[in-house]
Amino acid sequence: MDLSYILNELGEDRHRYFNAVSPPIIQSSNFAFNTVSDLRNAMADEFENNLYSRGNNPTVDILRKKLAALDGAEDALLFSSGIAAITVPMLALLKKGDHIVAVENSYSWSDKFFKDFLPRFGVEVTLINGSETADFETAIQQQTRIIFLESPNTLSYELQDIKKIAHLAQSKNIITIIDNSYCSPLFQQPILAGIDLVAQSATKYIGGHSDVMAGVLTGSKALIKKIFENEFMNLGPAISPQSAWLLLRGLRTLPLRLNRSFETTKVITKWLSEHSGIASITWPFSSSFPQLTLAQEQMKGCGGLFSFTLKDSNLNKIESFCNNLKHILLAVSWGGHESLVIPAICSIKAKDYDLNNNRHQLIRMYVGLEEPAYLIQDINQALSSLI
Ligand SMILES: *Cc1c(COP(=O)(O)O)cnc(C)c1O
Repeated sequence: MDLSYILNELGEDRHRYFNAVSPPIIQSSNFAFNTVSDLRNAMADEFENNLYSRGNNPTVDILRKKLAALDGAEDALLFSSGIAAITVPMLALLKKGDHIVAVENSYSWSDKFFKDFLPRFGVEVTLINGSETADFETAIQQQTRIIFLESPNTLSYELQDIKKIAHLAQSKNIITIIDNSYCSPLFQQPILAGIDLVAQSATKYIGGHSDVMAGVLTGSKALIKKIFENEFMNLGPAISPQSAWLLLRGLRTLPLRLNRSFETTKVITKWLSEHSGIASITWPFSSSFPQLTLAQEQMKGCGGLFSFTLKDSNLNKIESFCNNLKHILLAVSWGGHESLVIPAICSIKAKDYDLNNNRHQLIRMYVGLEEPAYLIQDINQALSSLI
């Protein structure tokens, strides 16, 4: 399907709402029926009908159609956050005694779900690096139900070979789920590589303006329906119509924003790599990236999130550099209009800081929509005032 068609027309029945170009926010929890028979039919199939907005809502439905199409998937579900789009399908597909294999450097709350949450309910988890497909073969057990990927992750950017792992999982009847937030559907379409379920934090690139929280899950109609009719309706992670509308607005400019961020990141990583105060750059499309070939094979482009280390990585230097920035904001999250940094030391206690551990030294930067020269000037003055 044509990208421009998906973003501008798909799912929008403008003639039903005064030919308004921007769709209405149907801010209603409830929908009424003319006859008992109509109400009964809607109650019997909430997946296909607007009955109650914990299930379906017409504004959310426009977004749902677009996001499914962007992933090349049969269907999609919208959630109130990205983490709900990751955890709810796993709760739907796992039971006591099952086993899952997941990557070890996943998003912090996914990691907590694997380490603390699932074990409480009798699900065993094996965490692996995942850069080598053979690691998955070794980790799979008789009871393995799910393989969880995040390629790349959002600090050190290790990739998994999506096609090979999807193939391996299919041969063993294991369901694959990937967190595709880093790439968004524009730069990576795991469904087309054989992955079963694709989760994404829509809070990041889809929203794109740091003003809405949401998650999206895509997959086959059968899997999405099973998740919808059970855990989705039972746990209640639905998105609000207002949030769905903000995401629809964000989607209109997704290609512009993503490409702008990609292009500016090329300029900034190149500038940094030539600066004497910088020791290393980690970004999947940089020439020094260990998995560059795989990155170029399975990703159509690269996001605006990368990490770097200072030549002098003592704790105070990292902290001063970040404090010295005048325009680039110090914050979690990413994917909005504004550039951000966060040093890994934010989640490491000073006594645990290990100068020999590269992950501890990382400063993550997200490149927003500002002019490249404006960002470089800010980084430059922050580096200069270190000496
Ligand atoms: C932000 C993020 C999430 C969680 O999404 P929320 O919308 O914050 O719940 C999951 N995975 C990755 C890679 C993220 O960056």
